[in-house]
Amino acid sequence: MRTTSVNHFILETLQDSQTHLNAHQVYEQVRQRLPSLNPSTVYRALERLALAGKISVSDMGCGAVVYEAVGGCRHHHLVCHGCGAVITLGDDLVRGWFAQVEAGHHFQVATNHLVLFGYCEACRQKGEGQEQSLWEA
Ligand SMILES: [Zn+2]
Ligand SMILES: [Zn+2]
Repeated sequence: MRTTSVNHFILETLQDSQTHLNAHQVYEQVRQRLPSLNPSTVYRALERLALAGKISVSDMGCGAVVYEAVGGCRHHHLVCHGCGAVITLGDDLVRGWFAQVEAGHHFQVATNHLVLFGYCEACRQKGEGQEQSLWEA
């Protein structure tokens, strides 16, 4: 199987889904079009695509890392520990901060998909997010 077609289907799957998929979900979708596909081929291709900056890889607290296409619109997320809600942030806020970090520390930031964990408004009103709930969760 040619790597290029696997990469192509992976990118297409992630672009079409418009959301985060873990490696297994990507494999399930790509397999519908390439039935003889081996899961490890998909996992290796995902790693290569992430290294090449074509897709983002993030730990969003779901147990497995998730992948997402990095298209024209870079974005970042706030993830609620309480209910799992995912809030999407535009890149403008974060880009300014990254620029400061890069200038101040002579450090080139490669992160293209930042995930911050916390508690959403609804959960905070329910009293989630106190110190101990992090450990109880
Ligand atoms: Zn995302
Ligand atoms: Zn919440």
